[in-house]
Amino acid sequence: METRPFGPTARRVAVIGQGTWEMEHERRAAVAALQRGLDAGLTHVDTAEMYGAGAVEELVGEAIAGRRGDVFLASKVLPENASRRGTIAACERSLARLGTDHLDLYLLHWPGDHPIDETVAAFESLRTAGKILAWGVSNFAADELAEVVRVAGPGRVACNQVLYHLRERAIEHEVIPLCARHGIAVVAYSPFGSGRFPVRDRTLRAIARERGATPHQVALRFLVRNPNVFAIPKASRPEHAVENAGAAGLALTEDDLRELERAFPRGRRRRGVPTI
Ligand code: NAP
Repeated sequence: METRPFGPTARRVAVIGQGTWEMEHERRAAVAALQRGLDAGLTHVDTAEMYGAGAVEELVGEAIAGRRGDVFLASKVLPENASRRGTIAACERSLARLGTDHLDLYLLHWPGDHPIDETVAAFESLRTAGKILAWGVSNFAADELAEVVRVAGPGRVACNQVLYHLRERAIEHEVIPLCARHGIAVVAYSPFGSGRFPVRDRTLRAIARERGATPHQVALRFLVRNPNVFAIPKASRPEHAVENAGAAGLALTEDDLRELERAFPRGRRRRGVPTI
């Protein structure tokens, strides 16, 4: 599996990882799919206290038991919990559900009402205590992210996890360039549009055929063409996880990229950041 430096952390992280949203419905199948994904090198596992109200963190804990050292484990605090004390308490609860003593990455799930300097202070104290190795944000527009960088100082914000797929490329206007300037990793969530994937698109199919790949692999490879971007597709089926891992070995040509750019235009600059 191809790895890349992850923002300002000293870690190299798999370019393709695994999402876990709504995985609580078929727990046993989800655990098996996540384990198959880990075997295939999808070692960046993304979860959140919100998912299944904690049930997903518990099943992720089961999936990574005995192999915690192989995993780059990310979870998220809900904005309503993101006060200074609330963030620390939420992190402790996540650690207990995940059956681990630390997270590799802890994110604020989306901008909320608690002052960001309180959340940042909590993240920094969790980092000093070794309970998280790095922290970041999710669903932050460029101006909101710039404010976090101003509050936290340089080299502190590890990532911004944002919506990014073939038909939703708005983050290319401002968010990706800002992250690149500050050395912040971009993690693409819902890289298949949460299941609404343009599987019949002729350009996508033609490129996939040409490269001996699948449309899903081509889409993932397109998203991670920028060296600062990672993707976290969710796969509840083991065969999907294995297929997604195959995207890492795929090479798209400049022509392929140009054709995909044309078939799935970036669109005009908009205010804010797109969310699901
Ligand atoms: P997604 O990854 O865009 O799409 C998931 C869907 O694609 C599932 O139906 C899955 O099917 C299917 N799929 C996966 N691999 C496939 C393949 N190779 N071939 C065909 N179908 C395939 O959806 P998502 O769950 O919305 O996003 C991914 C992750 O991003 C989430 O799970 C979560 O961890 C994160 N996320 C974060 C936020 C945030 O606010 N920070 C918001 C949304 C999502 P099966 O499940 O049947 O395999």
